[in-house]
Amino acid sequence: MTRTAHSALAEHLAALPVVSTHEHHREDAFHADLDLDKLFANSYVGWINPLPGPIRDRARFLDAVGHSAYFRWLERGLRHIYGVGPITPETWDAVSEAIRQAHVSSPTWHVALMRRFGHYRRAIQDSYWAPGSAAGHPDFFAPTFRINCYVLCHHPLMTDHNGNSPWQRHDLAGLDFDAYLLLLDQVVAEQKQAGAVALKSALAYDRDLAFTSGDRETAARVFGAHPNAVSDADRRAYQDFLLHHLCELAARHDLPFQHHTGLAKLSGSRPLNLEPTIARHPQTRFVLFHGGFPWVHEIGGLLHHYRNVYPDLTWLPLIAPTAAIRAVREWLELGNGAANLCWGGDAWTGDESVGAALALKHVLSVALGQLVEEGSLGLEEARRIAGQVCHENAARIYGLG
Ligand SMILES: [Zn+2]
Repeated sequence: MTRTAHSALAEHLAALPVVSTHEHHREDAFHADLDLDKLFANSYVGWINPLPGPIRDRARFLDAVGHSAYFRWLERGLRHIYGVGPITPETWDAVSEAIRQAHVSSPTWHVALMRRFGHYRRAIQDSYWAPGSAAGHPDFFAPTFRINCYVLCHHPLMTDHNGNSPWQRHDLAGLDFDAYLLLLDQVVAEQKQAGAVALKSALAYDRDLAFTSGDRETAARVFGAHPNAVSDADRRAYQDFLLHHLCELAARHDLPFQHHTGLAKLSGSRPLNLEPTIARHPQTRFVLFHGGFPWVHEIGGLLHHYRNVYPDLTWLPLIAPTAAIRAVREWLELGNGAANLCWGGDAWTGDESVGAALALKHVLSVALGQLVEEGSLGLEEARRIAGQVCHENAARIYGLG
């Protein structure tokens, strides 16, 4: 790659606004006592498997995680925000104090820093601990509505993996199955009315994504039945039917339907498992998160065949920038990859979101720079695509103008 194409794009990207399609941003109170230890414990660095021991064992911890992309982008973000680092056992306390001071001095610093240092304009919020909430900042965060509990729970004793249950959230006393399905239609309408801009499935953390056609009669029988009285086959038939019902509601209420693909329950989460569902609901917009990592090629295959597939890089630049670069290149080569390609930071803290935005811009400057160098793209076209991916597509698809 010529230095010129890459550096010209990196410079262009640095100033671009971003619109994130996915965050799990925590509220003001959570950020109030944020320091480096709490940040690591609530970042993807804490997901590195296996961690060598407690975070307080600083030298050992840094030695083990220091080369990971998760760590590198968090550190880069902190350097960008606070001008501190690199993080070593010797600088740890000073970095921690810089973070703590900033959050203590302003209770909304966690949002301000996203705007100022990450160039975030808007972000879509998935509050899995309070579905539909905007984390206290509705001017900045637009909620997505997480649907896991509606697919998984057929009895008041059941919850999804975040502890949510339809019976906690709504008065379902005396409702039969038909009335329940109608209620879900109203719930989606109300969520949209209240500001939700998408539906979100994180079902890949609960089960595989190979939904069969489902069966209304079985689902009606399972609704309200005690979990011990339902066979595995019937439980799946219920889940599959409800998932299809929600796909129809997403189309009826004109809301993109975001799906976690890849990782999670690993082998069941591959994007190709969703193909029959995508084919069955041509009017539903299927946003496929995380590039389906590690199966980024499968998103490419689906993108090639289905116009209702919306590829999304959320989280991927933090997991494995190399895979993200490959994904961007492949999807752009298909010709339709740029039209609906979006990204999200997928973080719990404003601090990590800033590093995530830097990671995205790194990935785009490398991938687009390579395509320019190879003669596949003009520099102006690459600049235009950068703007589409960073903010224009998300603003258009989710109505976040
Ligand atoms: Zn997420």
